[in-house]
Amino acid sequence: MSNPTPFPEPESDLACAFRAEAGDRPTRIRVDLDALTHNLHALQRHARAPVMGIVKADAYGHGLVPVALHLQAQGIAQLGVAFVEEGIALRRAGVTVPILVLGGIHAPQVSQFIAHDLEVTVSSIDKLRQVEQAAESLGRKAVIHLKLDTGMERIGVHSEHAAPFIEAAVSSRGCTVKGIYSHLACSDDPASPMTAEQLRRFLAACAHFDRLGAPMPVRHLANSGGVLHFPETHLDMVRPGIALYGVLPDPASRATVALRPALSLVSRVVYFKVVRAGRTVSYGATWTAGQDTRVITLPIGYGDGYPRSLSSCGEVLVRERRRPIVGRICMDQFMVDIGPDGTAYNGDEAVLIGRQGDAAITCEAVAQAAGTIPYEILTGLNQRIPREYTGGPAGQPASSAAGRVA
Ligand SMILES: *Cc1c(COP(=O)(O)O)cnc(C)c1O
Repeated sequence: MSNPTPFPEPESDLACAFRAEAGDRPTRIRVDLDALTHNLHALQRHARAPVMGIVKADAYGHGLVPVALHLQAQGIAQLGVAFVEEGIALRRAGVTVPILVLGGIHAPQVSQFIAHDLEVTVSSIDKLRQVEQAAESLGRKAVIHLKLDTGMERIGVHSEHAAPFIEAAVSSRGCTVKGIYSHLACSDDPASPMTAEQLRRFLAACAHFDRLGAPMPVRHLANSGGVLHFPETHLDMVRPGIALYGVLPDPASRATVALRPALSLVSRVVYFKVVRAGRTVSYGATWTAGQDTRVITLPIGYGDGYPRSLSSCGEVLVRERRRPIVGRICMDQFMVDIGPDGTAYNGDEAVLIGRQGDAAITCEAVAQAAGTIPYEILTGLNQRIPREYTGGPAGQPASSAAGRVA
């Protein structure tokens, strides 16, 4: 018998060899586009500045292209990605808003930025020369954002040495300086004094533009933590990633903006049994039933990016009750104890992240249980899980693992 649902053509250089068909897989990610709209507008209002929506890493697991097209339809000012391949995938999908590639550039790829109308992060005089050369050979101007290092020690010119860098960029013939930015290391924590120091360093370096009599480019500094906790970092544009998806960056973060989580992760019961007292569950026999109890199996595992560290410590929602994961999480399945009197039927929906009735399991709670941060949970959910989109302009559910909104 032939497979009735052939694999879609890979649509970008980043496309994995396997992208799940939406099909009937009972495990899926639901993305609420209306929540994205809400968060975008709430963050915009709060920051009183245009938003550069950060959609790197498959839009934090929400699906790069559908999320970007939706944000574009909502009038977002700009998008930001990490790698040039992500930017190219967006251009090929019809995204026309300005896109900044945040990552450090790799010399052989510079001409691709210019060819696809992607804005370049320039993080040294050396890189500036590379971009100028590529622009010259293509007979076009590169649009660049200067990257200053104010304390992250990742990429960028140390802000105290920015004067010659800014001067070289301003006088460059091949490059248009559209922006200048830096990245905050500790903005997740509203109590950290680091942010004020980074802001001070950043503004001191930006003052070189005034000294040169050059127009001030767009100054942007605030990631989600900056947007939520440090209004003085909002400047001319803000760069929220995780907050746009309705998730707080850190347990220390404060919900100064009412955000709505956009992503739910659900699966369905595929097996039900009674485990007798004394029997063990899963690899390594690490969990033993203390009494006769009912155990269900869910068809999702660490092979989907659901963290194995939740073995015997995570929870899921079944019939609006929180139920503990028991035994080790396998590659494709794991088991849940619903108790001696619990009810569940094959096909019942289980919620791993999201709401079910009045009960909810947040991405933040999953991250805490797994001993990591919400970013890693979201970006870890991989292409084996189909994405399904609800809300949006049409208000129609659109199911597409191939990353398109119908
Ligand atoms: C990832 C990233 C962001 C967004 O960070 P969040 O904490 O998700 O808001 C902003 N700016 C840069 C340079 C980044 O790399």
